[in-house]
Amino acid sequence: MDASSPPDRRTIVATIRDYVEQLREEGMEGLPASASPTPRATPAASAPASIKPDAAPIPSELFSKYPGLEKTSTLDELREFIGDCQRCKLAPRRTNLVFGVGNPNAQLMFVGEGPGADEDARGEPFVGRAGQLLTDIIERGMGISRADVYICNVIKCRPPDNRNPEPDEVAACEPFLFRQIDIVRPRAIVGLGTFAVQAVLKVKIPISKLRGNWQDFRGIRFMPTFHPAYLLRTPGDKRLVWADIQEVMKYLGMPIPRRGGSAS
Ligand code: SF4
Repeated sequence: MDASSPPDRRTIVATIRDYVEQLREEGMEGLPASASPTPRATPAASAPASIKPDAAPIPSELFSKYPGLEKTSTLDELREFIGDCQRCKLAPRRTNLVFGVGNPNAQLMFVGEGPGADEDARGEPFVGRAGQLLTDIIERGMGISRADVYICNVIKCRPPDNRNPEPDEVAACEPFLFRQIDIVRPRAIVGLGTFAVQAVLKVKIPISKLRGNWQDFRGIRFMPTFHPAYLLRTPGDKRLVWADIQEVMKYLGMPIPRRGGSAS
């Protein structure tokens, strides 16, 4: 296509999708008809005494949808239980089911939205450009190996055209995430982006209001922050994510680099 040619339909759709996604990360819930104020999250930056590192097991009603799921006690058993999953309409178009990777005893878990094209092709979460940025945050910023943490998504199969997962798909797949969390028992979870945070916390508050404030997921500390894909488009906000990550590091008792530790 030369510079004077009009963009094709796919390019226009991709551009609009990127723009809407960016608005969403910045706190806009779709395109509202009226400008009603968004409720603010209750800040919980200082640790509530009720949040314990060794929290009680996650209530089994979160995975009671699938009989036998609560009996899986290792990640391998859970993966076997999920099998060649056909439990929602995302199954037919996936290349690979993207389960999760990392340390099964990790103190820190990262949870994203769902696989993109690169992840679908390789069967591993966060391996595309956004994944490389997440790896940089972990390895160059936090000073630990990607293999030291556990990384997964709310949805295990790629939605077509990278659309947002739909409520029935989330309902079908989230019991697997909750079981993953219960098996790994991390001390802290970082929720990456609007969708993952809202899906786990069951809130409608935009990520721009939630980020940087500790939340509670069933007794486990949960830090919402921006998705790495958003940071690729808005690199100026990397400093906010680095601030959120430093809060997590402080909570986990990790040394914080004096300067220049953030991924760039
Ligand atoms: S998205 Fe989840 S529930 Fe749907 S087919 Fe994939 S693994 Fe199964």
